[in-house]
This record gives sequence, structure tokens and C-alpha cells, in this order.
Amino acid sequence: METVWFHVDMDAFYASVEQLDNPEYRGKPLVVGGLGNRGVVSACSYEARAFGVHSAMPMYQARKLCPQAAFVRGRMERYSQISRQVIAILHEFSPVVQQISIDEAFLDMTGTQRLFGKSREAALLLKKRVKEETSLNISVGIGSSRFIAKMASDYDKPDGLYRVSPGKEIAFVDAVGLRKLWGIGESTLSSLARQGIRTVAQLRTYEEGRLRHLFGEAAGTYLWKICRGIDPGIHTGSTKSHSISTEMTFPIDVTDGEVLSQNLLGMSHEVMFRAIEEQVVSSTVAIKLRFSDFTTISAQTTVATPLYSAEQVYALAKELLHGKWRTPQPVRLLGVGLYQVESSQRAIQQELFDDPYQRKRELEKTVLALRAQGKQLQKAALMHPKETEES
Ligand SMILES: [Mg+2]
Repeated sequence: METVWFHVDMDAFYASVEQLDNPEYRGKPLVVGGLGNRGVVSACSYEARAFGVHSAMPMYQARKLCPQAAFVRGRMERYSQISRQVIAILHEFSPVVQQISIDEAFLDMTGTQRLFGKSREAALLLKKRVKEETSLNISVGIGSSRFIAKMASDYDKPDGLYRVSPGKEIAFVDAVGLRKLWGIGESTLSSLARQGIRTVAQLRTYEEGRLRHLFGEAAGTYLWKICRGIDPGIHTGSTKSHSISTEMTFPIDVTDGEVLSQNLLGMSHEVMFRAIEEQVVSSTVAIKLRFSDFTTISAQTTVATPLYSAEQVYALAKELLHGKWRTPQPVRLLGVGLYQVESSQRAIQQELFDDPYQRKRELEKTVLALRAQGKQLQKAALMHPKETEES
């Protein structure tokens, strides 16, 4: 049977939600993120991207590039609410949904033709369902592996739908080009350029052993695979074990510990709000790091009682980060996750309610409930707690 993967990606997710909820932001440059001096950009509208603003970049840099943009603090509880709605729709289309961040998921669509017709028709139906229910656009990429599907969704953004037919993977990676191949960052591009490699086709003329010799074991094998359209296995993790995680690939490798920490803070909030939204808790925090030489490591820690607040997740994740990373080691990808999640009802009953983080979680829950009722509640510290002291 032909293997079919969908990659679904919400277009400029946080910014699109802000533009949806606040008509005055529509059609304008909009930057969402931490607004304090040390904040980072969580997301930006397509209008802001035109000025060179991108996610993960320090906020002061975004202000310099696009001073006329509207700058808003994110509302993670609203985004996680919509995310859950979208993920529920995805589950109507496939029993195997692998959510890789708040706005991205893989669907194994193998063998679903009988239910939804050809993959392109299924994708159109899916886009229509999401649009009807949330008024937001998604881009869908279809391919024979997660690697191909992921690049296909990016190929036709925004509001995209692109399918790479089986057997056409090499032609597709050639069309995507070296710069936009998944996992290739600025530093890899320049090391390739130093060898005279400027196209995917040129890269393909190198044998695997030669690439490993030139770029190191991990990078060599990775490069050898991707220029042939072979999935290098970035997201091969089990799709079934229950975890909530997110990760971020930096357009330019990050060497600044503060930028890493601030991104970790935003991601800790993302996974915690998704956990609250799904009514689950976890006692295990994990981080994932990929360095510029493509080596990838992870670390995890388990605490005695369930984690009840984003700040607690952040504190543990930061400790893990500093156990694995030294300034100024260039980081290409950073991820954080909650593992072995379980129903929060059960876990909370087991607690003695004397944990200060428990109160914090109750507060976050209350904010969620009020927001859901449409009440305007300003709890500035929720998404970027550090800034209340600074700004
Ligand atoms: Mg997206």
C-alpha cells in the first residue's frame, strides 16, 4: 500500500489568530511575543515577514526592522484553545495524528482513500473543515514521508496544498532548493558553499563517505539522505505514546544563552497551556537540542509531583539546557516536551493541594475559563512572566 503522509501547518498561527480577533490588525505588520527588553518574537504576520522579521528573533531586532508594526503580547490560552479545535478535526481524518507543535501536525493518511477519496480531495476537505470551524487557513503538504510532506506544506504557503507524487521526491527536493531543505541552516549553507556545493544536484554527486569525512558523521549522513528525498528521520518518534511537545528550528543558529532561554520560556508556556487545554498533567520534562553539526541530544527529568505551571516547566527545562549546552555552542533546534501525560483529574485528586504551583495552575485555569466566556482579563504575567518586573 502506498504510504501517504500529510503535514498540516497553520499559517502564521498566533498572528493570524490576533488578526482574526482584532480586525484593526488585518493586512498590517503584526509581531507577537515578549515585549520586554529581553523578549523574543513568537510569531509575526506575513506583512511583518516582508520586513525580515521572523520568529525566535530578539524583539529589539524586530522593532528595528519594522518599527511601524503592531507589537502584541501573545494569548497562549486562546491559541491552545484553537489548536485543540484543529487537532480534533485532524482526528476525524486519521487515527494517527502526531502533533509536533501548537500549530503543526503529521497525519498518516495511508489507506484512507476509501473514506476520503484521493489524497488531494481529502486535503481540500480538511482545509475546508478547518476554515469553516475556525476561520483560519492551513497549509497541507502531501508526500510519501514526513520529510517530504513537511517541505510540501511550506512550498505553497499560505493557504497551500501541495502534493509530491510518489517517485517524484528527487525532482521535488531539486525544486525546493538547498536553502529551503529541511534542516539546512545558514551555517550549513556556507560550509557547503566552501566546498563549491550550491545546488541539491551538486550535493547528490558526493558519496556518503565523502560527506561524512567533510562534514562529520551525523551531518554527512543527513545531507546524503535529504538530497535524495529520503526522510532523515527527524520526527520518527512514536505517534502513539502520549506526550505534548514543541520545537523550533532557528533560521540562524543561536549562540546567545538569553535568546535560547527566552524561546524556552515561550515554548514552556505553549506546552503547559496545551496540557491545561487537554486536561492532562505530567511529571516529566524533556528538552531536545540539535547543534550546527546535526548532532541531536535530549535530556529529561522527572519530579515527584505533577507539574502545575509553565514557570515550573521552564525552570526544569532551563536546568536541563544548562546541563547540555555551553556558551557559545551554536544551536540549530530547540524543543521542550511533557512526557507520560495523564488525566489531570486523577492526578489532582492524588495531590494534597499544598503545592504553591497548584494554585498557579488553578489561576491559569480560571483565566482560560474567563477567556472562553469572552471576558477581557488582563493577566500580563501569563505568557512572559519576567516582563512584569522589567517593563
Ligand atoms: Mg505555522
